[in-house]
Amino acid sequence: MALKVNEIYSSIQGESSYAGRPCVFVRLTGCNLRCSYCDTQYAYEEGEELEIADIIKQISSYQCPLVEVTGGEPLIQEETPVLIYLLLEEGYEVLMETNGSQDISQVDDRCMKIVDIKCPSSGQTSHNDLGNLERLTDRDEVKFVIADRGDYEYAKQIVNLVNPNHFRENQVHFSPVFGKMEPKTLAEWILKDHLDVRLHLQLHKVIWDSDQRGV
Ligand code: SF4
Repeated sequence: MALKVNEIYSSIQGESSYAGRPCVFVRLTGCNLRCSYCDTQYAYEEGEELEIADIIKQISSYQCPLVEVTGGEPLIQEETPVLIYLLLEEGYEVLMETNGSQDISQVDDRCMKIVDIKCPSSGQTSHNDLGNLERLTDRDEVKFVIADRGDYEYAKQIVNLVNPNHFRENQVHFSPVFGKMEPKTLAEWILKDHLDVRLHLQLHKVIWDSDQRGV
């Protein structure tokens, strides 16, 4: 069993409620979407086929208990749920970031899924599988990447559809597009509307150069 892998590296987790923790990232090759603001276009094609056993061996060399499987879109490769299952069985805490277009129920419930919901400025809202809102477990989190007021209004509408019975409270992230949306403006909108969401800044882009790969 093999997966096409773009890169494996360790860094500080920059996103989600796990932000700030050391984490090993497995970036899988390929994405079925083309978001207007995509900062990982290099992952669309580049990569090498690796056996799952070799991927796990590389991960173990970092001696880090937290692993994130990301992309691209990790769920367009059939063997991704197998990799996640085997990592969980090895005792890792596993996160998976997905673009929200694929059914997340194919992934082991012990994995914490960070599910993007694409807003209008991405140009990809028609690909959102909103059925995922009913498939969230109480480990999972939802993220909206917001570039402008239209995106904010869309995200507000969707937040009302999130079933609180299936979901950990306060784990909806509103993330400003780096360099396009002022975090301060987004903060003001959230406060004015009394939204119980998290303003989400990409910590790795604060620590390192925003264009730097592998951080
Ligand atoms: S889903 Fe992610 S990797 Fe795919 S095009 Fe959008 S931003 Fe890029």
